[in-house]
Amino acid sequence: MIVDVHVHLGYDHTFDESFEKQYLLGKMAECEGIIQIVQPGTCHNLADVRAQHDAIAALCREFPGRFFGMANPSPHLSDDDYRYEVRRCVRELGFVGIKLHPLAHGVQPGSRAARKVWEMANQLEVPLMVHTGGGVPFAAPVALIPMAREFAQVKVVMAHCGHIILAGEAGAAMDACPNIYGDTSWTPGHSLRGWCRAFGPRLMLGTDHADNLPVELAKIRSSGFTPAEQDGLLFKTALEVYRLKAAI
Ligand SMILES: [Zn+2]
Repeated sequence: MIVDVHVHLGYDHTFDESFEKQYLLGKMAECEGIIQIVQPGTCHNLADVRAQHDAIAALCREFPGRFFGMANPSPHLSDDDYRYEVRRCVRELGFVGIKLHPLAHGVQPGSRAARKVWEMANQLEVPLMVHTGGGVPFAAPVALIPMAREFAQVKVVMAHCGHIILAGEAGAAMDACPNIYGDTSWTPGHSLRGWCRAFGPRLMLGTDHADNLPVELAKIRSSGFTPAEQDGLLFKTALEVYRLKAAI
C-alpha cells in the first residue's frame, strides 16, 4: 500500500503551474493501489478555490477510497468566507485535511489571518499541512512551534520538511512538538532517516509534483530504512494521521 499525502489538482495562480487530472491518473497507472490526498493549486479568491475544491470532490467521488481532498482557501479571504469554505470541504465534501501555504498566500503562520486556519483544523479535527522551506521567514519550520504548542491537539504536517536548506529547523520543530509531522517531498533520504530514528514514525510520503513519484519511492526504498520504517513512511503514518482506514 502507498499513500501520497501531497498532490495537487488545478491551476496554481501564484506559481503559474497547472496540475492536471491526467497526472494523478498516471500515478494510479504507475503505482497500483496508490491513495492520493489532493489539494488545489494556490487560488486568491473564493470562486476559484471553490471550483477547484469541487473538482477534487468530483475526483474523489469518481474513485472512492483512492483520492481524498485537502482544503486550501486563502487565509486572506474574509474570516466568514474562509471558515464557511473550509467547513463545507470537510463536513460536506468529506475532505480529510487543511493546507496553509505561508509563501503562496503571504501568511505568517502565527498571524491574525492564520489563526483561523489553526482554529478550523482544531474545531474540525483534521490535520493541518503547512508549506515549509522556500519563502522564509514566513515558511520557516520553527515558526510552527508556538502555534503547534498552542494547538496541541492539531496534527501539523510540514510539507517539504524545510526544503533541505532549513532541514535543521525541521528537526528542531519535530523535537519541540510531538504533534509536528513531515512529508518527504524535496527532502534527502539521510535527513528523513535521522528524524525517523530520533522521533519515530512521523514522516509520510509526499510527492508534490507528479514527476516525483518514482524518485520519492526510490529514495524511501534505498536510504537504509528497515521494512517497518518503510511501511511507516509509505502508508502507516498517513493512514493514522489522516484517519483513512475507515474510508478505504
Ligand atoms: Zn505542494
